[in-house]
Amino acid sequence: MELEIYKKTKQAIQKSDLVIFLVDVKTGLMPQDREFANFIKRNKLNSLLVVNKCHNNQDRNQSNDFFKLGLGSPIMISSASGAGVGDLLDEVVKKVKVQKEIISEPKNAIKITFIGKTNVGKSSIINAILNENRVIVSTREHTTRDAQYVPFEYKNQSFILVDTAGVRKKTMQIKRDELEAKSVVQTRKAIKQSDVIILITDVSLPLSVGDMKFAEIIKEEKKGLIIVANKWDKIEEKDTKSYNKYVEYYNRMMPYLSWASVLPVSAIDRQRVFNILDEAKVIYDKNQIGIEREILKKFLVKIIKMHPPTIGRGNNKPRIFDIKNVAVSPLTFEISIGSKTSLHDSYIRFMEKKIRQEFNLRGVPVVVYVKKSRTVVR
Ligand code: GDP
Repeated sequence: MELEIYKKTKQAIQKSDLVIFLVDVKTGLMPQDREFANFIKRNKLNSLLVVNKCHNNQDRNQSNDFFKLGLGSPIMISSASGAGVGDLLDEVVKKVKVQKEIISEPKNAIKITFIGKTNVGKSSIINAILNENRVIVSTREHTTRDAQYVPFEYKNQSFILVDTAGVRKKTMQIKRDELEAKSVVQTRKAIKQSDVIILITDVSLPLSVGDMKFAEIIKEEKKGLIIVANKWDKIEEKDTKSYNKYVEYYNRMMPYLSWASVLPVSAIDRQRVFNILDEAKVIYDKNQIGIEREILKKFLVKIIKMHPPTIGRGNNKPRIFDIKNVAVSPLTFEISIGSKTSLHDSYIRFMEKKIRQEFNLRGVPVVVYVKKSRTVVR
């Protein structure tokens, strides 16, 4: 009977625009939860992780356990009191607007999408990539109303270009405003379906509101990220410091994307265009492979020695007992601290930065959260 229920649920899920994956904070994380979470991830389904029965702070702390499912931040609600349900509805509306289509795809294909405002060079880069690989490109009939899936191969690796309609069909006469409004919705959709996002910018111009709009869209997404500094040929008097100067500028303008990998490219000169694919593969692979426990433990000892944890709320000095890599894609790390203590947000950000540095996770999505534990884990 249980098996039959699973089968039916999975069938229904496949047909849905959005899956609300409801878990129970009182029972905690169950093996079935993991199974469903993996199913959602494997099929890249549009989903919201919702933790029910969150009545008080203790429940809310407990709900951090569900980060382990690797579905990002859980939304906490209490259906009994109605707390959080309004926020949940807002999230549902947001998500359904960007509903995804289910497609069948080659196994282990890396899905990438190029986004960015008009004229930054998206078509030039896409065409350079696809022309070079023309022999193996076949625009399959996965074409939906809004996005096209263009499979191609590069260095024996399958890729799928999730192409927003605005990009390659640019010759179509659509009014500019309409195109812009459309492209935000399409961009969101394409992002949901992708493993690695490639944000194209034009280095010959300062970053504008238009660029920021795309940066904002990416901000919340736990996807791989490459920022392409295109039209690199236009920078005069380049020297060895030029690249770092641009990276600093981007970090200043878009601090929340400072974890991205930045690539200088010239579509016109065909310079480093293919490095985008090489980098996407590196990011994709790292996002699928976790970090071993023993290695993480050694890392923790080193970090605590270098920079002891800082207090969040209360007076008790926090003690970090353990760090675990509880999920991949996005790489999710759980830091365990004593139950009566809390860790300052800045320390959590510091840990994230150090994890990235230590394990070379540039461009790889990382989630770090804190779990209060009663027992001392060694
Ligand atoms: P899209 O609107 O983002 O798809 O941009 P396009 O690919 O159509 O490019 C817009 C303009 O920028 C065209 O005139 C391109 O020739 C030019 N362009 C694109 N990439 C480069 C580049 O790397 N260097 C220079 N100098 N011009 C480029």
